[in-house]
Amino acid sequence: QATPPLDEKTIVQNYFNTTGFDRWRRIYGTDTVSKVQADIRLGHQQTIDTVLAWLQAEGHLKGKLFCDAGCGVGSLSIPLAQLGARVYASDISEKMVAEARDRAAAQLNGHHELILSVSDLEALRGQYHTVICLDVLIHYPDAQMAGMLAHLSSLATERLILSFAPKTPKYTLLKKIGEFFPGSSKATRAYLHSEEEIVQRLRALGWRIERNTMTKTRFYFSRLLEAVRA
Ligand code: SAM
Repeated sequence: QATPPLDEKTIVQNYFNTTGFDRWRRIYGTDTVSKVQADIRLGHQQTIDTVLAWLQAEGHLKGKLFCDAGCGVGSLSIPLAQLGARVYASDISEKMVAEARDRAAAQLNGHHELILSVSDLEALRGQYHTVICLDVLIHYPDAQMAGMLAHLSSLATERLILSFAPKTPKYTLLKKIGEFFPGSSKATRAYLHSEEEIVQRLRALGWRIERNTMTKTRFYFSRLLEAVRA
């Protein structure tokens, strides 16, 4: 009897519980890695640092509730909790969450508020001051983007911070020839998204783009948007 083909989400989940976990744990760590991985590490850290700088500049983090959707190994959640925010972080991969828990245990103490759980984006519920989803939408095909943006939007009362790989002629071509894609994302399902479409959808959902920046190194590229209630 033929096994039915795996759905997109299960493929991504399996990847981040196996080879993807090994690769990304290293990229999001401090051990020596290949040149390409070191470049992706640098780019990703710039995205994290930009978000933390935005949040810190605004202040009043203490006690505010954040949702880090698709938190990976906690690269954003842990420093955010260190700054006094209350953080609810989740990821579809149990291995990524287990690694995030280990890192949080090593870096945080009992005064910090970070809850980590295994959950996919669709299963997220609740209301958060700010919902942040960094470098996860790359795993969502266009057809699912409208629904996912509406879902993330419904969870955020004040602010949404999203990053995605932008669909430009250059990146489309590079992806086609298999030359360039945020590192080994090419090892699993990965999609570029139109910035214009995302911005339009966010506007239609009642958001205004407050800040918009691009992080680009040789092998990493990510468009970062901060949206606030219009
Ligand atoms: N946001 C983290 C960061 O910037 O450090 C991790 C980014 S990593 C490239 C992508 C993460 O998205 C992985 O940890 C993966 O398991 C998670 N992910 C992919 N699809 C997901 C889904 N449907 N629901 C929740 N997490 C998902």
